[in-house]
Amino acid sequence: MPVKFYIASKLENADQVSRVAAAMKAEGHIHTYDWTVHGSVQRDGPERLREVAEKEKQGVLDAEMVIVLFPGGRGTHAELGMAIAKNKPVILCAENDSLFLDDGNTCAFYWNPCCARCTGNLERRIEDILLMARCIEQERQNELEDVLSDTQTGKLAFRCIECNKISVYRARFSDGRTCAHCRGFITPLGYAKAGAKVNG
Ligand SMILES: [Zn+2]
Repeated sequence: MPVKFYIASKLENADQVSRVAAAMKAEGHIHTYDWTVHGSVQRDGPERLREVAEKEKQGVLDAEMVIVLFPGGRGTHAELGMAIAKNKPVILCAENDSLFLDDGNTCAFYWNPCCARCTGNLERRIEDILLMARCIEQERQNELEDVLSDTQTGKLAFRCIECNKISVYRARFSDGRTCAHCRGFITPLGYAKAGAKVNG
């Protein structure tokens, strides 16, 4: 199953952003919002700025993985903050480790537990990014195996079509339920193990 991703970066890195997005999309992953298609809106007036700010925010919130391509500007850091606040897996990618040393040039948020850091040329960083997406897919698969039952139980597991997370409800009380994590629309996966934790 594809992973929804968002790429935060500086406008000047639009080429690199497009290359990373193309590599992710080639593996079937979904770009939640591609701001490179319009570029800078700084001179387009307040209304357009508000619109793009809102779309970029939604792009971060919809993503299951946030990629930060350094060097980043103020917008990049605003988006990093949103991703951290929502506990999204974040991969911070830089050409070298100059932002990740203890010489006064780093940022405490780069060390938040949801952030992974990778360095190297773009090809190298793309490999790490693709690997992280595969790990997210694998975790999802493991989670599925942990929760699904081969036999009929009183509990049902559902997958959210918005955030892809699993919710478990008692079969009798599952009608009309929405995702326990984001209130999104859910589709049934099958019976959940008798011991599976119920989401309410
Ligand atoms: Zn959800």
